[in-house]
Amino acid sequence: MPTITVTDVAIRSRDIKLPGTCPGCHRCLQADGALKLWGFADESRSGRLRRAGDVDSVAGLVLGDDLPKSGETFIDNVAISCRYCNHMFVEGAFTVWPAR
Ligand SMILES: [Zn+2]
Repeated sequence: MPTITVTDVAIRSRDIKLPGTCPGCHRCLQADGALKLWGFADESRSGRLRRAGDVDSVAGLVLGDDLPKSGETFIDNVAISCRYCNHMFVEGAFTVWPAR
């Protein structure tokens, strides 16, 4: 029976304060489209089992074959920057722990 690696995702949120105007370009951050919001979206794709030597894995095909219909699997505000000058206000921590 093939053995493959699966990834666990844990999400931790925190509150931050943003200025009313960008310190980089001094534009008002309440204007429509002033902020660039980064996030992660869950998606699925077709794949298959494969074996190379004595290592099993799964190989995915085309990304985005099947996107969720609701936003419940969307992880929002991972990073926030100014849309005009790219000043970065906050970036969420991305940590990878060794496999158990
Ligand atoms: Zn700016």
